[in-house]
Amino acid sequence: MERISRRTAMRIGGTAGLAALTAACSAAPSAPPRPKIDPFDLDPVELTKKMVRFDTSHNGEGGRTLPHAQMLRDIFDAAGARTEIIPTPKPDNAHFIARVPGAGRARPLLFLGHSDVVSVERERWSVDPYRADVVDGWVYGRGTLDMKGTNAAFVSALLKHLGEGARFDRDIVFLSDCDEEAGPHGTSWLAKQDWAKIDAGAVITEGGWILTRSDGVTPMLAAVTVIDKTAANVELTATGTTTHSSKPMPDSAIIRLNRAIGRLADYQPPVAITPTARPYFEALAAATDNPQLASAVRILLGAGDQNERNRAGDLVVQLSPYPWLHNALMRHTITQVIEQSGYRTNVMPGSASAIMNLRLIPGGPSVAGTLDQMRATLGGDNQLKLQLTARGLGQQTPEQLLTQYEGRLTNTPSGTDTDVYRALEQALKDTYAGVPVTPGPFEAGTSSSPWRERGIPVYGIYPYPVDNDTIVRMHGNDERVRADALHHAHDLMYRVLAPLRTP
Ligand SMILES: [Zn+2]
Repeated sequence: MERISRRTAMRIGGTAGLAALTAACSAAPSAPPRPKIDPFDLDPVELTKKMVRFDTSHNGEGGRTLPHAQMLRDIFDAAGARTEIIPTPKPDNAHFIARVPGAGRARPLLFLGHSDVVSVERERWSVDPYRADVVDGWVYGRGTLDMKGTNAAFVSALLKHLGEGARFDRDIVFLSDCDEEAGPHGTSWLAKQDWAKIDAGAVITEGGWILTRSDGVTPMLAAVTVIDKTAANVELTATGTTTHSSKPMPDSAIIRLNRAIGRLADYQPPVAITPTARPYFEALAAATDNPQLASAVRILLGAGDQNERNRAGDLVVQLSPYPWLHNALMRHTITQVIEQSGYRTNVMPGSASAIMNLRLIPGGPSVAGTLDQMRATLGGDNQLKLQLTARGLGQQTPEQLLTQYEGRLTNTPSGTDTDVYRALEQALKDTYAGVPVTPGPFEAGTSSSPWRERGIPVYGIYPYPVDNDTIVRMHGNDERVRADALHHAHDLMYRVLAPLRTP
């Protein structure tokens, strides 16, 4: 998509953009430097496109985030913020921090938005994933949803405040981190390097969804996530006879592995409505315009035993317009993600393995119990081995990983009795016509562990209304977000920051 004209951008940026530009051009020599803000950067669609055009894709070895960080540094330097690029041991992979100093009346508010994105199956995209095309009102590209669109909404909103000459009651920190998509030098590494730079009183990051009614546009329910599911990886290994492929034998590792995967695909961990998920589902029952779904959710919440809970859970998944999201919020999940077997066409290999990604809901069934259930599903075949694996992200043994994950299941959610949660809740209601707001769990993970571990509240939100299809494209093909939803997201973030301004 070609760049829109500067005149159009001015109109979108509104009077604030005009004021900033005028101020930048006409400041008296003795006046303090006024922020210089490009009107394009006040437009969340233009800023999303700018971010997406940096290929920061991450295939497990760290993305190339340095040029993206330099772009952000230029924007925030001109706006008068304090900026810093923190390199990681991989030279072109870096974290970026901007700090707008405040009056120190409260601990800093930190916005955490990762700059890396997952890599793509390029041949399965209908557009170039890094060109940021706008088609029929949708902005396409890797990271538009997760989470450069969210970053652009926050950055453009903060710039708008700065262009208006805003001062805040506390420091506002923007951390554009790297290695969020499963790399070794993410925020945990950064926190060990220099915690003081990212210490905060509260954090806003990716997480909860603004679900829509059946038109896919009208907001129905907004979730602010207060806890993340924990990710764990399990390796399933099958062994068999190695022999010449001309004389196949039944004792095949590949066939054993794939039959085992099939059995595990049919297994669902039990439904568990945790204290964090309960208010979410209560709010869903109240918000949906489908009475059958509302009644299924109420049966789920009132279920007297596990069988009833499982049956009601299945019904909710069947009736929900967001089936896979709601399935993930009510139980541990198991996803087959990687399979490795075979190396020559004339050899029947003697081993084959697969990785399964588990997402564990804090407060849900134990990890050990879940692994036992998975092994029971495999039927006691001693040529199948299933165990936790660090999968390149550490040297821990399966036993150490088990202790670590069991500990994470006892994590407690962030409390909602804070001024930042209230600001977020009010901003959601003001932006989206009084939409109900509920705390809830996030079905995925974020890079917020260093703050959560220190008891600092972390609130997750993707600030744009989405339909089920948009959510399914996350980490998938033809990822996209609506352009008008990005403008609403900008308005939301502007309103979140507004109560923190000082006169
Ligand atoms: Zn993300």
